[in-house]
Formats: sequence, C-alpha cells, structure tokens
Amino acid sequence: MQDFDFDLFVIGAGSGGVRASRIAASHGAKVAVAEERYFGGTCVNVGCVPKKLFSYAAHFHDDFADSAGFGWTGATKATFDWPTLVRNKDIEIKRLNGIYKSILDNNAVTIYESRARISGPNSVVVDGQTVTAKYIMVAVGGWPWVPEFPGSDYAVSSNEIFELEQLPERIVVLGGGYIAVEFASIFARLGVETHLVYRRDQLLKGFDDEVREFITAEMSRDMTLHMSDDITQIDKNNNELQVKLQSGGEIRADLVMAATGRRPLTSDLGLDNVNVQLSSTGGIEVNDDYQTSEPSIYAVGDVIERMELTPVALAEGQLVARKLFAGANQALSYDNIATAVFCHPNISTVGLSEQQAESAGYQVDCYVSQFRQLKHTLSGNAEKSFIKLVVDQESDRVLGVHVVAPDAGEVVQGFAVALNCGATKADFDRTIGIHPTMAEELVTMRTKR
Ligand code: NDP
Repeated sequence: MQDFDFDLFVIGAGSGGVRASRIAASHGAKVAVAEERYFGGTCVNVGCVPKKLFSYAAHFHDDFADSAGFGWTGATKATFDWPTLVRNKDIEIKRLNGIYKSILDNNAVTIYESRARISGPNSVVVDGQTVTAKYIMVAVGGWPWVPEFPGSDYAVSSNEIFELEQLPERIVVLGGGYIAVEFASIFARLGVETHLVYRRDQLLKGFDDEVREFITAEMSRDMTLHMSDDITQIDKNNNELQVKLQSGGEIRADLVMAATGRRPLTSDLGLDNVNVQLSSTGGIEVNDDYQTSEPSIYAVGDVIERMELTPVALAEGQLVARKLFAGANQALSYDNIATAVFCHPNISTVGLSEQQAESAGYQVDCYVSQFRQLKHTLSGNAEKSFIKLVVDQESDRVLGVHVVAPDAGEVVQGFAVALNCGATKADFDRTIGIHPTMAEELVTMRTKR
C-alpha cells in the first residue's frame, strides 16, 4: 500500500476546512491544513461575525431613539465613532483567529501558513515542497465579484468595508441580495445617506414574494431605493463619485459598494493538474459525498456553490471527515435549513416560500400577519413586523415559516426543529404561546389569507 505524508490535506482554514480537520484528527487521521490568508475564513474575518458586530452598532440608533417614549432623556444626543467600532471589531477578530488556530494546534494538525497548489491526485506543493496525502479537501471558499462597467474599479466590495478608515457621508450600494441589504441597513442606521440600486422591483430574489414586498417597503423608510435600475458608470471628480444609473439618473456619493455576489476561489489552485470538474462559474462539482470527479479529492463549503452559509460548510466538512475516517455514512439534507438576513428589521426563514411550494406541486394555505410590536406603542417607532406560514393543504404540514421582525433568527431557529420533525398546522395551533412576545403570533394564526 502506498505511504502518504498525511491522511488528509485540507486547503483553506475557513469554517468547513477547520471543522473537517478537527473531526478527522479526532478520529486518528494525520491531517495538514494550508491557509494563506486568515484563520476562520470569510465568516470570521470579512463576513458573518464582523457584519453582525456592525449590525449591533447600527441597532443602537433605534434603541436610543426608542428610549424617549419610555422616559429616558438625552439618548438621542449620542454620537457615533466609526474608528472605535472598527478597532474593537479588529481586536475581537484577532482573538477568533487565535481560537481557530489553536483548534488546529490542539488537534495536532500540521499548519502551513501559505498557498498550496494541487500537483496530482494525492499531492500538493506547499512552501516549495511536495507533500502527499491520501485525500485532499478543497475548502477555499469564495471572493466578492463585481461586474465590469466604466468606473467599476471605484466600487469596493464587502471585504474593504470592514477596513474603512472613515464612515462615508453618502454611499451607494449595488445589488439586492444578502450582503447589499444588510450593509445598506447598517449604513443607513449609522447615519449615512444611503442609496441602494437593484435591477429588480423587489429586494432579495428567492425569498417569499410577500417578504420581499414587505422588506422593500420597510427599507425604503431608511434609504433611497433605486429599484429596477442598475449602475452604468462611475466617474470620480476630486473626492466625489458620480454614479450614473441606467434610468438616466445620477447619484453623488463618497463610496460605492458592489454586493453583486461571490465567486469560488478556484483559480491558481493547480486544479488543471487533476481531473476535477468545474461549473461555469468556477465552482467545484461534487457528488452527494462531496467527492469530486478525481476520487481522492473532496470539496466543501462556498467553493461547491450549494448553500453559501457557514453552518452548511461546517456540516459538509464534518460529514466528509466522519465518512472518511469514522466509517459514517450520513447524508446532509438541504431541506429546512433556516437562514437570516440581518437587515432592519431582520428577516429569517425556514422551509419553502409560497412560490417554491407551489412550483413543487403543493396546494397551500397561507397565514399572514402584519403588526406593530408592543414596544413601539410607546417608542413611536413606525417599524412593523411580518410573519407568514405556508401550509400544505393535503397533509397540514407547515412547509415554510417566514418572519420579518427584530431578532427573527432567534425565533425561527426553534421553528426549524419543528419543521424538521414534520410539524403540522394543528401542532402549531395546540402550542400555547408565550405572552407578550412576537413569537406567539406564530402559534395563534387562525385565519387563512
Ligand atoms: P447574492 O447572490 O445574495 O446577491 C447578489 C446580488 O447582486 C443579487 O441581488 C443580484 O441580482 C445582484 N447582481 C448580480 N450580478 C449583477 C450584475 N451584473 N449587475 C447588477 N446586479 C447584479 O450575493 P451576496 O454577495 O449578497 O452574498 C453571497 C452569499 O453569501 C449569499 O448568497 C449568501 O448565501 C451568503 N451570505 C449569507 C449571509 C447570512 O446568512 N446572513 C450574509 C451575507 C452573505 P439578482 O437578484 O437579480 O440576481
């Protein structure tokens, strides 16, 4: 039998790669990881974690304004200092980088802090030497992608936003997906004059149509939305950016952020030395076991373009490690994976939208409610909340739960368990609510839309 330097060589120490390494090592495998940039990947460094910290910062805007109706004075005079936020965020991210590295160290994983390139089905070149492994796992993630148009180089991506030295006074955000909606919300609440340009008429393609309509209306109270529009050109005049729109309009701004999607980071990885099939966007094609068309090479996380979510990458990495080194043979279900968009108010959803349910052939009943939170009876805040249940008429199973409300993700996580257990509308109905909460609405909806 052929001897290898390692049982598993993982390229990329992000969510999926670190989880796979740790689990593989815990089952006795000899593991190495190569990471050329930062430990923890996108999520820890330029994604979920710092974004959520920025989102907390933005929420204080409403908290201060809301407090007056409850008898507090002076809070609305609070001022915001962006460099303090960025500095404190950096300290926390550095701490997390250290934790990720120590997870690898504590599991006796060999770390190469440099770029690895695949040189054959069982070999990589790293630090100028060839290293062999029985299995190779590609977990390199993705990178922001910006369309090309005149002046598109002036646009920054979410990566640069985390390092901005100064908060702009005026920003234009291009796109209507997760990142665009979240950052536009954050900037607007931090006091930046915010414009969002999106080529469709409702934000967040792929979400339930009523959720899209609701959040589009909510967000339009905080910023200027340029819907069914696109940026055609950006010019720079001294320090001012002149953003030309397809509709003929022009916006003057200090910063343009393109949040137009991400692409797998598969170039210059040595994939042309092996038989790994790529999608048209450069993603790695894998089978249900995350095995590529080169049998010794696996891939997980954003690079396989299934669901670009940290918990999904963790689950994929763990599944492969257990399969290869513990003989486990589980499959990962992509059904009922809850997700949240941290805009204002938050959106969280699990299961099918009404439109997805109908396209899948279900006849559905929908229960919909729109209301003002109890808190806002005294705060005077005009923010509204929205909830929707999508129910299969035939089986009474709840197919989808959609919530647009503060901390929606905290609420929907528990309902994801219920949906995974096959909960019916009757199960929801016999559940006693917690009063007074927003979440009780989800178990007290009796009238079909
Ligand atoms: P998305 O795919 O969500 O959104 C990209 C947006 O850019 C879409 O609105 C898209 O329009 C638009 N777009 C694409 N190409 C062009 C173009 N040529 N011109 C104009 N607009 C364009 O990507 P994001 O970058 O927002 O996020 C990447 C992924 O990261 C998400 O899909 C999600 O899986 C993950 N993520 C998850 C978060 C969370 O869990 N909270 C937070 C942030 C990211 P259209 O809709 O018409 O295609």
